[in-house]
Amino acid sequence: MKTITELRQEFISGATTPTEVVTIALSLIKEKNPDINAFLEVYEEALIEAQKATEQYKEKGADTPELLGIPIAIKNNILLKGKKATGASKILENYTAVYDATIVGKLKEAGAIFVGATNMDEFAMGGSTENSAFGPTKNPVDNTRVPGGSSGGSAAAVAMNAVPVAIGTDTGGSIRQPASYCGVVGFKPTYGAVSRYGLMAMGSSLDQAGPITKTVADAELVHNIIAGKDKNDATTIDADTYKEVEIKDKYVFGVPKAFMSDGVDEDVLTAFNDHVELLKKQGHEVIDIDLPLFEQGLAAYYVVMPAEVSSNLARYDGIRYGLSAEGDNLLDVYEKTRAEGFGPEVKRRILLGTHVLSSGYYDAYYGKAQLARIKMREELDEVFKKVDLIITPTAPTPAFKLGEKADPLSMYRQDIFTVPVNLTGVPAISFPMGMVEREEKQLPIGVQYIGPHGGDARLFSVARKVYDERP
Ligand code: GLN
Repeated sequence: MKTITELRQEFISGATTPTEVVTIALSLIKEKNPDINAFLEVYEEALIEAQKATEQYKEKGADTPELLGIPIAIKNNILLKGKKATGASKILENYTAVYDATIVGKLKEAGAIFVGATNMDEFAMGGSTENSAFGPTKNPVDNTRVPGGSSGGSAAAVAMNAVPVAIGTDTGGSIRQPASYCGVVGFKPTYGAVSRYGLMAMGSSLDQAGPITKTVADAELVHNIIAGKDKNDATTIDADTYKEVEIKDKYVFGVPKAFMSDGVDEDVLTAFNDHVELLKKQGHEVIDIDLPLFEQGLAAYYVVMPAEVSSNLARYDGIRYGLSAEGDNLLDVYEKTRAEGFGPEVKRRILLGTHVLSSGYYDAYYGKAQLARIKMREELDEVFKKVDLIITPTAPTPAFKLGEKADPLSMYRQDIFTVPVNLTGVPAISFPMGMVEREEKQLPIGVQYIGPHGGDARLFSVARKVYDERP
Protein backbone atom coordinates (compact mmCIF):
# COMPACT_ATOMS: atom_id res chain seq x y z
CA MET A 1 0.00 0.00 0.00
CA LYS A 2 1.37 3.40 -0.98
CA THR A 3 1.23 6.49 1.23
CA ILE A 4 -1.69 8.91 1.16
CA THR A 5 0.44 11.52 -0.56
CA GLU A 6 1.45 9.06 -3.30
CA LEU A 7 -2.07 7.72 -3.77
CA ARG A 8 -3.53 11.19 -4.06
CA GLN A 9 -1.05 12.08 -6.82
CA GLU A 10 -1.77 8.87 -8.68
CA PHE A 11 -5.52 9.37 -8.40
CA ILE A 12 -5.16 12.85 -9.87
CA SER A 13 -2.83 11.76 -12.67
CA GLY A 14 -4.96 8.69 -13.39
CA ALA A 15 -2.06 6.30 -12.79
CA THR A 16 -4.39 4.37 -10.50
CA THR A 17 -7.97 4.75 -9.24
CA PRO A 18 -9.72 4.53 -5.87
CA THR A 19 -11.57 1.48 -7.24
CA GLU A 20 -8.28 -0.34 -7.85
CA VAL A 21 -6.81 0.63 -4.50
CA VAL A 22 -9.89 -0.22 -2.44
CA THR A 23 -10.23 -3.55 -4.28
CA ILE A 24 -6.66 -4.38 -3.34
CA ALA A 25 -7.24 -3.27 0.26
CA LEU A 26 -10.33 -5.45 0.64
CA SER A 27 -8.74 -8.53 -0.87
CA LEU A 28 -5.63 -8.10 1.24
CA ILE A 29 -7.77 -7.90 4.37
CA LYS A 30 -9.62 -11.03 3.29
CA GLU A 31 -6.34 -12.87 2.83
CA LYS A 32 -4.47 -11.72 5.94
CA ASN A 33 -7.09 -10.89 8.53
CA PRO A 34 -8.00 -14.46 9.51
CA ASP A 35 -4.47 -14.73 10.92
CA ILE A 36 -3.74 -11.14 12.05
CA ASN A 37 -7.24 -10.22 13.34
CA ALA A 38 -6.61 -6.49 12.93
CA PHE A 39 -10.17 -5.92 11.67
CA LEU A 40 -13.35 -6.68 13.59
CA GLU A 41 -15.52 -5.76 10.64
CA VAL A 42 -14.92 -5.03 6.97
CA TYR A 43 -17.15 -2.60 5.09
CA GLU A 44 -17.72 -4.15 1.68
CA GLU A 45 -19.69 -1.13 0.48
CA ALA A 46 -16.37 0.73 0.45
CA LEU A 47 -16.09 -0.48 -3.12
CA ILE A 48 -19.22 1.38 -4.17
CA GLU A 49 -17.87 4.56 -2.62
CA ALA A 50 -14.56 3.95 -4.37
CA GLN A 51 -16.33 3.75 -7.71
CA LYS A 52 -17.98 7.09 -7.01
CA ALA A 53 -14.60 8.59 -6.05
CA THR A 54 -13.08 7.23 -9.26
CA GLU A 55 -15.77 9.02 -11.27
CA GLN A 56 -15.16 12.23 -9.36
CA TYR A 57 -11.44 12.15 -10.15
CA LYS A 58 -12.25 11.67 -13.83
CA GLU A 59 -14.45 14.74 -13.76
CA LYS A 60 -12.60 17.05 -11.44
CA GLY A 61 -9.00 15.83 -11.00
CA ALA A 62 -7.17 17.84 -8.35
CA ASP A 63 -10.26 19.90 -7.63
CA THR A 64 -11.53 17.25 -5.20
CA PRO A 65 -11.35 16.88 -1.40
CA GLU A 66 -7.91 16.02 0.00
CA LEU A 67 -8.59 12.44 1.03
CA LEU A 68 -10.97 11.48 -1.77
CA GLY A 69 -10.75 7.74 -2.38
CA ILE A 70 -8.17 7.08 0.36
CA PRO A 71 -8.99 3.88 2.28
CA ILE A 72 -8.98 4.32 6.05
CA ALA A 73 -9.55 2.04 9.03
CA ILE A 74 -10.98 3.16 12.34
CA LYS A 75 -10.64 1.92 15.89
CA ASN A 76 -13.88 0.39 17.08
CA ASN A 77 -14.37 2.82 19.97
CA ILE A 78 -15.14 5.63 17.51
CA LEU A 79 -18.70 6.05 16.26
CA LEU A 80 -19.44 5.57 12.56
CA LYS A 81 -23.16 5.95 12.00
CA GLY A 82 -24.95 2.71 11.15
CA LYS A 83 -21.93 0.55 11.98
CA LYS A 84 -21.21 -1.57 15.00
CA ALA A 85 -19.27 0.24 17.70
CA THR A 86 -18.19 -2.44 20.14
CA GLY A 87 -15.21 -1.01 21.98
CA ALA A 88 -14.08 -4.65 21.62
CA SER A 89 -16.36 -5.46 24.54
CA LYS A 90 -19.00 -8.15 24.93
CA ILE A 91 -21.21 -5.52 26.52
CA LEU A 92 -21.47 -3.64 23.20
CA GLU A 93 -21.18 -6.64 20.89
CA ASN A 94 -24.40 -5.75 19.07
CA TYR A 95 -24.43 -2.01 19.53
CA THR A 96 -24.81 0.14 16.40
CA ALA A 97 -23.66 3.76 16.35
CA VAL A 98 -26.50 6.22 15.86
CA TYR A 99 -24.36 9.19 14.87
CA ASP A 100 -20.91 10.01 13.47
CA ALA A 101 -18.09 11.12 15.74
CA THR A 102 -16.94 14.62 14.83
CA ILE A 103 -13.70 13.25 13.43
CA VAL A 104 -15.59 10.70 11.34
CA GLY A 105 -17.71 13.50 9.88
CA LYS A 106 -14.55 15.42 9.00
CA LEU A 107 -12.92 12.41 7.38
CA LYS A 108 -16.04 11.70 5.35
CA GLU A 109 -16.16 15.30 4.22
CA ALA A 110 -12.52 15.01 3.14
CA GLY A 111 -13.50 12.03 0.98
CA ALA A 112 -11.86 9.18 2.93
CA ILE A 113 -13.36 5.73 2.45
CA PHE A 114 -13.89 3.65 5.59
CA VAL A 115 -12.92 0.06 4.84
CA GLY A 116 -13.26 -1.41 8.30
CA ALA A 117 -13.24 -1.25 12.09
CA THR A 118 -10.09 -2.24 13.93
CA ASN A 119 -9.55 -4.41 16.95
CA MET A 120 -8.42 -2.98 20.28
CA ASP A 121 -8.11 -3.71 23.97
CA GLU A 122 -11.57 -3.63 25.54
CA PHE A 123 -12.57 0.03 25.96
CA ALA A 124 -8.93 0.90 25.17
CA MET A 125 -7.61 -0.60 28.41
CA GLY A 126 -4.40 -2.43 27.70
CA GLY A 127 -1.10 -2.37 25.93
CA SER A 128 -1.22 -5.44 23.70
CA THR A 129 -4.73 -5.82 22.19
CA GLU A 130 -4.96 -9.11 24.09
CA ASN A 131 -7.81 -7.65 26.17
CA SER A 132 -10.19 -7.64 23.20
CA ALA A 133 -13.35 -9.70 23.74
CA PHE A 134 -12.93 -10.80 20.11
CA GLY A 135 -9.47 -12.34 20.32
CA PRO A 136 -6.03 -10.73 20.16
CA THR A 137 -4.51 -9.05 17.13
CA LYS A 138 -1.13 -10.37 16.02
CA ASN A 139 1.82 -8.23 15.02
CA PRO A 140 2.23 -8.41 11.21
CA VAL A 141 6.02 -8.11 11.62
CA ASP A 142 6.12 -11.31 13.70
CA ASN A 143 2.83 -13.04 14.32
CA THR A 144 3.99 -14.68 17.54
CA ARG A 145 4.10 -11.20 19.06
CA VAL A 146 1.57 -8.57 20.10
CA PRO A 147 1.06 -5.46 17.99
CA GLY A 148 0.92 -3.33 21.15
CA GLY A 149 -2.21 -1.62 22.30
CA SER A 150 -4.73 -0.51 22.83
CA SER A 151 -4.90 0.61 19.17
CA GLY A 152 -3.16 -2.61 18.09
CA GLY A 153 -5.67 -3.31 15.32
CA SER A 154 -5.09 0.12 13.81
CA ALA A 155 -1.29 -0.19 13.90
CA ALA A 156 -1.47 -3.72 12.47
CA ALA A 157 -3.85 -2.57 9.70
CA VAL A 158 -1.23 -0.08 8.52
CA ALA A 159 1.71 -2.45 9.05
CA MET A 160 -0.01 -5.26 7.10
CA ASN A 161 -0.44 -2.79 4.21
CA ALA A 162 -4.23 -2.90 4.19
CA VAL A 163 -4.59 0.88 4.52
CA PRO A 164 -2.28 3.90 4.43
CA VAL A 165 -3.91 5.30 7.58
CA ALA A 166 -5.87 4.09 10.56
CA ILE A 167 -7.28 6.16 13.41
CA GLY A 168 -6.44 5.24 16.99
CA THR A 169 -7.06 6.72 20.42
CA ASP A 170 -4.42 7.43 23.02
CA THR A 171 -5.14 7.73 26.75
CA GLY A 172 -1.72 6.68 27.99
CA GLY A 173 0.18 5.65 24.88
CA SER A 174 -2.28 3.62 22.84
CA ILE A 175 -1.38 5.22 19.52
CA ARG A 176 2.36 5.62 20.05
CA GLN A 177 3.24 2.27 21.66
CA PRO A 178 1.57 0.08 18.99
CA ALA A 179 3.08 2.33 16.30
CA SER A 180 6.47 1.60 17.87
CA TYR A 181 5.88 -2.18 17.98
CA CYS A 182 4.62 -2.33 14.39
CA GLY A 183 7.21 -0.03 12.80
CA VAL A 184 4.84 2.78 11.81
CA VAL A 185 4.19 6.42 12.76
CA GLY A 186 1.74 7.38 15.52
CA PHE A 187 0.72 10.83 16.73
CA LYS A 188 -0.96 11.94 19.99
CA PRO A 189 -2.02 15.59 19.70
CA THR A 190 -2.10 18.30 22.35
CA TYR A 191 -5.08 17.58 24.62
CA GLY A 192 -8.10 19.31 23.13
CA ALA A 193 -6.69 19.64 19.62
CA VAL A 194 -9.02 16.91 18.38
CA SER A 195 -12.69 16.54 19.34
CA ARG A 196 -13.66 13.59 21.52
CA TYR A 197 -17.31 13.81 20.51
CA GLY A 198 -18.37 10.33 19.41
CA LEU A 199 -15.40 8.58 21.01
CA MET A 200 -16.13 6.11 23.78
CA ALA A 201 -14.69 7.84 26.82
CA MET A 202 -12.00 5.99 28.75
CA GLY A 203 -10.20 8.72 30.73
CA SER A 204 -11.85 11.93 29.59
CA SER A 205 -9.04 14.20 30.75
CA LEU A 206 -6.46 12.07 28.92
CA ASP A 207 -8.09 10.72 25.74
CA GLN A 208 -7.17 12.00 22.28
CA ALA A 209 -7.64 10.51 18.81
CA GLY A 210 -4.88 10.55 16.23
CA PRO A 211 -3.52 8.96 13.06
CA ILE A 212 -1.33 5.91 12.57
CA THR A 213 0.43 6.05 9.19
CA LYS A 214 3.54 5.04 7.27
CA THR A 215 5.00 8.54 7.08
CA VAL A 216 5.07 11.67 9.21
CA ALA A 217 3.71 13.73 6.31
CA ASP A 218 0.63 11.49 6.13
CA ALA A 219 0.09 11.75 9.89
CA GLU A 220 0.25 15.52 9.65
CA LEU A 221 -2.19 15.62 6.76
CA VAL A 222 -4.76 13.51 8.58
CA HIS A 223 -4.28 15.26 11.92
CA ASN A 224 -4.91 18.63 10.28
CA ILE A 225 -8.18 17.29 8.87
CA ILE A 226 -9.51 15.89 12.14
CA ALA A 227 -8.26 18.70 14.43
CA GLY A 228 -10.20 21.80 15.41
CA LYS A 229 -12.62 23.38 17.80
CA ASP A 230 -15.92 21.55 18.14
CA LYS A 231 -19.06 22.90 19.75
CA ASN A 232 -19.87 19.37 20.86
CA ASP A 233 -16.66 19.07 22.89
CA ALA A 234 -16.08 21.97 25.28
CA THR A 235 -12.50 20.84 25.91
CA THR A 236 -11.42 21.44 22.32
CA ILE A 237 -8.91 24.24 21.82
CA ASP A 238 -8.20 26.68 19.02
CA ALA A 239 -5.11 28.40 17.68
CA ASP A 240 -5.18 31.02 20.44
CA THR A 241 -5.32 28.66 23.40
CA TYR A 242 -1.55 28.31 23.69
CA LYS A 243 1.07 30.80 22.70
CA GLU A 244 2.52 30.15 19.29
CA VAL A 245 5.19 27.46 19.13
CA GLU A 246 7.84 28.54 16.69
CA ILE A 247 9.01 26.25 13.88
CA LYS A 248 12.79 26.40 13.57
CA ASP A 249 15.53 24.76 11.58
CA LYS A 250 17.58 23.59 14.52
CA TYR A 251 16.29 22.61 17.92
CA VAL A 252 17.50 21.92 21.42
CA PHE A 253 16.46 18.39 22.44
CA GLY A 254 16.32 17.33 26.09
CA VAL A 255 17.18 13.77 27.10
CA PRO A 256 15.86 12.68 30.52
CA LYS A 257 18.79 10.30 31.19
CA ALA A 258 17.78 9.21 34.68
CA PHE A 259 14.34 8.26 33.38
CA MET A 260 15.92 5.71 31.08
CA SER A 261 18.37 4.21 33.57
CA ASP A 262 16.14 1.34 34.63
CA GLY A 263 14.19 -1.34 32.80
CA VAL A 264 15.00 -0.31 29.24
CA ASP A 265 16.39 -3.03 26.98
CA GLU A 266 20.09 -2.61 26.24
CA ASP A 267 19.67 -2.64 22.47
CA VAL A 268 16.76 -0.17 22.63
CA LEU A 269 19.13 2.18 24.47
CA THR A 270 21.82 1.62 21.85
CA ALA A 271 19.40 2.50 19.05
CA PHE A 272 18.26 5.52 21.05
CA ASN A 273 21.83 6.74 21.52
CA ASP A 274 22.44 6.29 17.78
CA HIS A 275 19.37 8.42 17.14
CA VAL A 276 20.71 11.13 19.43
CA GLU A 277 23.99 11.07 17.48
CA LEU A 278 22.02 11.45 14.26
CA LEU A 279 20.28 14.54 15.66
CA LYS A 280 23.64 16.05 16.60
CA LYS A 281 24.99 15.33 13.11
CA GLN A 282 21.99 17.14 11.68
CA GLY A 283 22.98 20.20 13.68
CA HIS A 284 20.59 19.95 16.61
CA GLU A 285 21.76 20.41 20.16
CA VAL A 286 21.07 17.64 22.67
CA ILE A 287 21.29 18.26 26.41
CA ASP A 288 20.57 16.25 29.55
CA ILE A 289 17.48 17.18 31.52
CA ASP A 290 15.90 16.06 34.78
CA LEU A 291 12.23 15.23 35.00
CA PRO A 292 11.88 13.70 38.48
CA LEU A 293 8.10 14.16 38.63
CA PHE A 294 7.43 13.21 35.03
CA GLU A 295 9.17 9.92 35.86
CA GLN A 296 6.47 9.19 38.43
CA GLY A 297 3.76 9.47 35.81
CA LEU A 298 2.80 5.81 35.86
CA ALA A 299 1.83 5.96 39.56
CA ALA A 300 -0.40 9.00 39.05
CA TYR A 301 -1.87 7.59 35.84
CA TYR A 302 -3.01 4.37 37.49
CA VAL A 303 -5.04 6.44 39.94
CA VAL A 304 -6.45 9.13 37.64
CA MET A 305 -7.27 6.85 34.70
CA PRO A 306 -9.18 4.15 36.65
CA ALA A 307 -11.07 6.87 38.51
CA GLU A 308 -12.28 8.30 35.22
CA VAL A 309 -12.87 4.82 33.79
CA SER A 310 -15.08 3.83 36.73
CA SER A 311 -17.19 6.91 36.21
CA ASN A 312 -17.31 6.76 32.38
CA LEU A 313 -18.23 3.09 32.28
CA ALA A 314 -21.12 3.50 34.71
CA ARG A 315 -23.32 4.10 31.66
CA TYR A 316 -23.09 0.43 30.61
CA ASP A 317 -25.82 -0.71 32.93
CA GLY A 318 -27.91 -3.08 30.81
CA ILE A 319 -30.55 -0.41 30.29
CA ARG A 320 -29.10 2.20 27.98
CA TYR A 321 -26.70 0.42 25.66
CA GLY A 322 -25.96 -3.06 24.39
CA LEU A 323 -26.09 -6.19 26.49
CA SER A 324 -28.89 -6.56 29.00
CA ALA A 325 -28.89 -9.61 31.23
CA GLU A 326 -32.11 -10.88 32.77
CA GLY A 327 -32.46 -10.11 36.45
CA ASP A 328 -34.94 -10.23 39.30
CA ASN A 329 -34.86 -6.48 39.80
CA LEU A 330 -33.02 -3.42 38.49
CA LEU A 331 -29.94 -3.87 40.67
CA ASP A 332 -29.77 -7.49 39.63
CA VAL A 333 -29.88 -6.44 35.94
CA TYR A 334 -27.01 -3.98 36.51
CA GLU A 335 -24.90 -6.53 38.30
CA LYS A 336 -25.49 -9.42 35.95
CA THR A 337 -25.02 -7.31 32.82
CA ARG A 338 -21.73 -5.86 34.04
CA ALA A 339 -20.48 -9.20 35.37
CA GLU A 340 -21.18 -10.89 32.03
CA GLY A 341 -20.32 -8.02 29.74
CA PHE A 342 -16.98 -6.69 31.00
CA GLY A 343 -13.67 -8.51 30.75
CA PRO A 344 -11.22 -8.92 33.66
CA GLU A 345 -9.02 -5.88 32.93
CA VAL A 346 -12.01 -3.57 32.71
CA LYS A 347 -13.37 -4.95 35.97
CA ARG A 348 -10.00 -4.49 37.65
CA ARG A 349 -9.91 -0.83 36.67
CA ILE A 350 -13.50 -0.15 37.68
CA LEU A 351 -12.75 -1.62 41.11
CA LEU A 352 -9.55 0.39 41.43
CA GLY A 353 -11.27 3.56 40.25
CA THR A 354 -14.24 3.16 42.54
CA HIS A 355 -11.86 2.61 45.43
CA VAL A 356 -9.73 5.72 44.82
CA LEU A 357 -12.85 7.85 44.48
CA SER A 358 -14.58 6.53 47.58
CA SER A 359 -14.97 8.77 50.58
CA GLY A 360 -11.99 8.46 52.87
CA TYR A 361 -9.68 7.53 50.00
CA TYR A 362 -10.47 10.34 47.59
CA ASP A 363 -8.05 12.82 49.16
CA ALA A 364 -5.37 10.24 49.77
CA TYR A 365 -5.32 8.90 46.21
CA TYR A 366 -7.30 10.82 43.63
CA GLY A 367 -6.63 14.26 45.14
CA LYS A 368 -2.90 13.50 45.44
CA ALA A 369 -2.68 12.17 41.90
CA GLN A 370 -4.34 15.30 40.54
CA LEU A 371 -1.91 17.41 42.54
CA ALA A 372 0.99 15.40 41.17
CA ARG A 373 -0.35 16.09 37.72
CA ILE A 374 -0.29 19.85 38.28
CA LYS A 375 3.27 19.62 39.59
CA MET A 376 4.33 17.55 36.59
CA ARG A 377 2.97 20.17 34.30
CA GLU A 378 4.88 22.91 36.13
CA GLU A 379 8.04 20.85 35.88
CA LEU A 380 7.51 20.38 32.19
CA ASP A 381 6.83 24.09 31.60
CA GLU A 382 10.16 24.87 33.28
CA VAL A 383 12.02 22.34 31.14
CA PHE A 384 10.45 23.72 27.97
CA LYS A 385 12.07 27.06 28.78
CA LYS A 386 15.42 25.36 28.19
CA VAL A 387 14.63 22.84 25.45
CA ASP A 388 12.39 22.81 22.38
CA LEU A 389 11.63 19.10 22.43
CA ILE A 390 12.05 16.10 24.73
CA ILE A 391 13.12 12.75 23.38
CA THR A 392 12.73 9.24 24.80
CA PRO A 393 12.31 5.75 23.42
CA THR A 394 8.57 5.19 22.85
CA ALA A 395 8.61 1.94 24.83
CA PRO A 396 11.31 0.20 26.85
CA THR A 397 11.28 -2.94 24.68
CA PRO A 398 10.24 -4.14 21.24
CA ALA A 399 6.97 -6.06 20.82
CA PHE A 400 6.67 -8.89 23.32
CA LYS A 401 5.21 -12.35 22.79
CA LEU A 402 1.49 -13.03 22.92
CA GLY A 403 0.72 -14.16 26.47
CA GLU A 404 4.11 -13.05 27.79
CA LYS A 405 2.88 -10.33 30.13
CA ALA A 406 0.27 -12.07 32.23
CA ASP A 407 1.03 -9.87 35.22
CA PRO A 408 -0.75 -6.51 34.76
CA LEU A 409 2.05 -4.50 36.37
CA SER A 410 4.63 -5.66 33.84
CA MET A 411 2.20 -4.67 31.08
CA TYR A 412 1.66 -1.24 32.68
CA ARG A 413 5.43 -0.65 32.71
CA GLN A 414 5.50 -0.64 28.92
CA ASP A 415 3.81 2.78 29.10
CA ILE A 416 6.39 4.41 31.32
CA PHE A 417 7.45 6.93 28.64
CA THR A 418 4.04 7.59 27.15
CA VAL A 419 1.63 8.14 30.07
CA PRO A 420 3.24 11.33 31.47
CA VAL A 421 2.51 12.92 28.09
CA ASN A 422 -1.24 12.36 28.50
CA LEU A 423 -1.19 13.44 32.14
CA THR A 424 0.31 16.78 31.15
CA GLY A 425 -1.64 17.15 27.89
CA VAL A 426 1.33 17.82 25.63
CA PRO A 427 1.67 16.40 22.09
CA ALA A 428 4.02 13.57 21.10
CA ILE A 429 4.90 11.57 18.03
CA SER A 430 6.42 8.11 17.68
CA PHE A 431 8.25 6.97 14.58
CA PRO A 432 10.67 4.13 13.82
CA MET A 433 14.25 4.62 15.06
CA GLY A 434 15.66 1.22 14.19
CA MET A 435 15.44 -2.53 14.53
CA VAL A 436 16.49 -4.92 17.24
CA GLU A 437 16.94 -8.65 16.88
CA ARG A 438 14.90 -11.18 18.86
CA GLU A 439 14.97 -14.90 18.02
CA GLU A 440 16.54 -14.17 14.63
CA LYS A 441 13.81 -11.70 13.70
CA GLN A 442 14.24 -7.99 13.18
CA LEU A 443 11.72 -6.06 15.27
CA PRO A 444 11.02 -2.35 14.91
CA ILE A 445 11.34 0.10 17.79
CA GLY A 446 10.17 3.69 17.97
CA VAL A 447 11.48 7.00 19.24
CA GLN A 448 9.18 9.51 20.90
CA TYR A 449 9.47 13.29 20.47
CA ILE A 450 7.47 15.33 22.98
CA GLY A 451 6.61 18.96 22.32
CA PRO A 452 5.20 21.82 24.42
CA HIS A 453 1.44 22.49 24.49
CA GLY A 454 0.29 23.51 21.05
CA GLY A 455 3.57 22.31 19.52
CA ASP A 456 1.92 19.77 17.21
CA ALA A 457 3.17 21.45 14.03
CA ARG A 458 6.70 21.64 15.42
CA LEU A 459 6.68 17.90 16.05
CA PHE A 460 5.55 17.17 12.51
CA SER A 461 8.07 19.48 10.96
CA VAL A 462 11.07 18.09 12.82
CA ALA A 463 9.99 14.45 12.63
CA ARG A 464 9.39 14.81 8.91
CA LYS A 465 12.91 16.13 8.39
CA VAL A 466 14.49 13.44 10.53
CA TYR A 467 12.39 10.49 9.32
CA ASP A 468 10.57 11.07 6.03
CA GLU A 469 13.50 12.94 4.52
CA ARG A 470 16.19 10.68 6.02
CA PRO A 471 19.17 10.10 3.73
N1 GLN B 1 -1.79 0.93 27.93
C1 GLN B 1 -2.38 2.00 28.67
C2 GLN B 1 -3.49 1.48 29.53
O1 GLN B 1 -3.67 0.32 29.56
C3 GLN B 1 -2.86 3.06 27.75
C4 GLN B 1 -4.20 2.80 27.17
C5 GLN B 1 -4.62 3.84 26.21
O2 GLN B 1 -3.86 4.75 25.85
N2 GLN B 1 -5.86 3.76 25.79
O3 GLN B 1 -4.18 2.22 30.17
